[in-house]
Amino acid sequence: MENCIFCKIIAGEIPSNKVYEDDDMLVFRDINPQAKVHCLCVPKSHFATLAEMDEKQAEQVKRCLVKIPGIAKALGLENGYRLIVNQGRDAGQTVFHLHIHILGGENMGEKLL
Ligand code: 5GP
Ligand code: ZN
Repeated sequence: MENCIFCKIIAGEIPSNKVYEDDDMLVFRDINPQAKVHCLCVPKSHFATLAEMDEKQAEQVKRCLVKIPGIAKALGLENGYRLIVNQGRDAGQTVFHLHIHILGGENMGEKLL
């Protein structure tokens, strides 16, 4: 998808600090971390929000969700972590390629949710 920063990262046109990659997803460190550990799990298929997701893409997101616990373990998040999927501008979504924030490495009890 043209002009999508995450598609460019997936294509290797923009560098990223990769944590995990397979045919379905790329996981890399967020450039502006909001917790000690802050990664983004990005399905390789381009769609902006859950509202635009088709069945095939939903299967890919399912495979992302299945992989995340193992990735979190590899990141040292044994004490827990938070997943956030912003949907639209009111949620603060700034990159319109669906992605799952993985946040942890500290106690986030006093922050949102
Ligand atoms: P959103 O606000 O759309 O849910 O999250 C977008 C996230 O992407 C933000 O946390 C932002 O810091 C991150 N981000 C934006 N551009 C880049 C980039 O070029 N590289 C990396 N690693 N993260 C990015
Ligand atoms: Zn994209």
